[in-house]
Amino acid sequence: MDRFVLLGPPASGKGTQAAKLSEHFSIPAVSTGAILREEIEKESSLGVTAEHHLARGELVPDLLMDELIASWVKAHGDQFIFDGYPRTKPQAESLDQFLDEQSLSLNCVITLAVPDQVLRDRVIGRLSCGQCNHVFQANSERGIQVDGRCPDCGSGRLYQRKDDNLETFELRLEEYARKTEAVPNYYSRTGRLQTINGEGTPEEVFARILKQLS
Ligand code: AMP
Repeated sequence: MDRFVLLGPPASGKGTQAAKLSEHFSIPAVSTGAILREEIEKESSLGVTAEHHLARGELVPDLLMDELIASWVKAHGDQFIFDGYPRTKPQAESLDQFLDEQSLSLNCVITLAVPDQVLRDRVIGRLSCGQCNHVFQANSERGIQVDGRCPDCGSGRLYQRKDDNLETFELRLEEYARKTEAVPNYYSRTGRLQTINGEGTPEEVFARILKQLS
């Protein structure tokens, strides 16, 4: 198992499960959203182009994302857990073609199924670490609050993503229904999709994934 794709709507837990899979299998997890946020921070040309798409809850154009992933694979090698890519059918086709050219294929495509109302509840309290990108549910008793220290890496500060507000989240859900729902269907048609119930604690979801993979 060395090439995974994790699918699912925003806030379905892709990033959390990608981190767990990454630790379990010692394979790098790649979040295209996190890479884009870094590019925005750096004010690179990709960041400048991506910024207004993220702010509106829209997807960044396919070609830019395909190039970003191809250069990641060329720089870091062909073992990966993709979190947030592919997000459209053309991206999925482009990834297949790119891997095919190198006589590679995906070993595992997982989609996390979570009802919309659970996603909304999660996103309201979601905080992200500026250093390691891990996400947490706000809990002031445990010090998990804006500007608090990340309980995982111990050095990063927690912040609320600009697009983690209900207004932008509704747009992201619409964009998911309009463009991304086609991706699990694409993999399902070729018998490559495994659907996992994404409700419950991160540990419960991870146990379901491992059971499915065994
Ligand atoms: P995420 O961190 O995965 O929730 O992604 C945050 C935002 O980054 C998304 O709402 C999109 O605007 C953008 N994004 C991330 N990955 C992709 C992708 N594969 N294709 C297009 N846009 C993306």
